[in-house]
Amino acid sequence: MKEIVEIFLNIGMRDIIDMAIVAFVFYKLLMLIRQTSAEQVLKGLVVLLIATKLSEWAKLYVTNWILKNAMTLGMIAVLIVFQPELRRALEHIGRTKFFTKSLVELSDEDLDQNISEVVEAATYLSRNKIGALIIIERETAIGDVLETGVSIRGDISSALLINIFIPNTPLHDGAVIIREDTIMAAACVLPLTGNPNLSKELGTRHRAGIGITEKSDAVAVMVSEETGAISVAMDGKISRYLDAKTLRSVLRNAYKPEDEKPLFRWKWRRKNE
Ligand code: ATP
Ligand code: MG
Repeated sequence: MKEIVEIFLNIGMRDIIDMAIVAFVFYKLLMLIRQTSAEQVLKGLVVLLIATKLSEWAKLYVTNWILKNAMTLGMIAVLIVFQPELRRALEHIGRTKFFTKSLVELSDEDLDQNISEVVEAATYLSRNKIGALIIIERETAIGDVLETGVSIRGDISSALLINIFIPNTPLHDGAVIIREDTIMAAACVLPLTGNPNLSKELGTRHRAGIGITEKSDAVAVMVSEETGAISVAMDGKISRYLDAKTLRSVLRNAYKPEDEKPLFRWKWRRKNE
């Protein structure tokens, strides 16, 4: 009893900061893996850990030995199996406003102009039921995807975007990638999402669009060849049947988020903004 009281009496400012940091990091990690398959695996690891401790306590030496080794193997397996998630998590940390400035530093006029060109192209393609997939890169560089396509490096114009997606032309198959104010490439191949909960109506074009937004913070604009419907995907989620006005505001918000969530937002900054 006396020892416990002593521990509490000896808690200093440093310990409080120490604990706060650990709690904060754990909270952020939990938020990152919440509702992903990593959550199930984490639960599995916790059960293993408890079983290991129990077997140690009960002096079941062989069981304990097996469990301990399973834990070590499990840790390595987790690193391999969750390589994409870990990569995303690290990218997420790198993207946090606390560490980096936004890479997209276009002036408001340029931004509006570029968005208008994309919206105009999407409406035209939608009206004419021409399938399209346009990826707008944000802070995660998607250079590996760029390399799968044909380099273009042209200014963003609705005419060029429309032209790329005209059926039976060499560049119409695959995705167009936009980086800042440039159409970087066309006919790019994207990773398909493995999400089993998506509507059966969504074919490979939509699954590719969603897939890249799971691997990066890019925004995907899709026009369906079958229905002409315009959709947008972000963070692995898709919004379907958008009209031109909604598409414009979604894109504007994606480029210059009104509700950014930096790691720390100091109160005075908000007043000065
Ligand atoms: P739609 O509503 O337009 O029919 P969909 O979601 O049903 O779209 P599909 O009919 O399968 O999809 O569309 C096929 C087209 O999607 C291909 O011609 C190709 O242009 C594009 N596509 C398919 N897979 C990929 C991929 N991995 N990366 C980029 N584009 C892809
Ligand atoms: Mg289809």
